[in-house]
Amino acid sequence: MMSSMPKGLTASTGMDALTHAIEGYTTAAAWELSDVLNLESIQLIAKNLRKAVANDPDGREGMALAQYVTAMAYSNVGLGIAHSMAHTLGAVYDTPHGVACAMMLPIVMEFNAEYTGDKFKKIAEAFDVDTTGMSQEEYRKAAIDAVRQLSIDVGIPTKLEKLKEEDLDFLAYSASVDACEPGNPRRASLDDFKDMFRKLM
Ligand SMILES: [Zn+2]
Repeated sequence: MMSSMPKGLTASTGMDALTHAIEGYTTAAAWELSDVLNLESIQLIAKNLRKAVANDPDGREGMALAQYVTAMAYSNVGLGIAHSMAHTLGAVYDTPHGVACAMMLPIVMEFNAEYTGDKFKKIAEAFDVDTTGMSQEEYRKAAIDAVRQLSIDVGIPTKLEKLKEEDLDFLAYSASVDACEPGNPRRASLDDFKDMFRKLM
């Protein structure tokens, strides 16, 4: 059914699923059961998204499972500000949801890192990183790097040319009142939102 889905749509919807899994894994209401599902989904996406984008049938099947597994979890526990900022970019610039999520995800992971305990270690390991002997700072960076590399490998841009300095006040305010904001593990001020949006410029 999904074999005729274009590469770009496969990549962006797949990165949206990864954003659901990572935000759902680190959201304020996360608990043991949602963690098991979200972590499994992260592992499936790490293994299958590149293959799905190459239209490999096993990769497609893996991604179909991954998006379902995380949806059973995140739909109960909530998300975070990668989604708040992606919703805003979609509304203001018509940026496709998955592309916006993929662009925001590593930026928000950097912002949230200190508030995620050892969860980024599990995320790095889900991406097949050997974390033996790594410090907390190292495994957190490894998790963010793995997510950023996957996004680049599947062709997601890292910059949004339409984004202008004069739009930042409105973008930051809109993201701060988004329905997903309360789920974020770390509170972001309007200046924090602006700094994160600015990283796309
Ligand atoms: Zn989403």
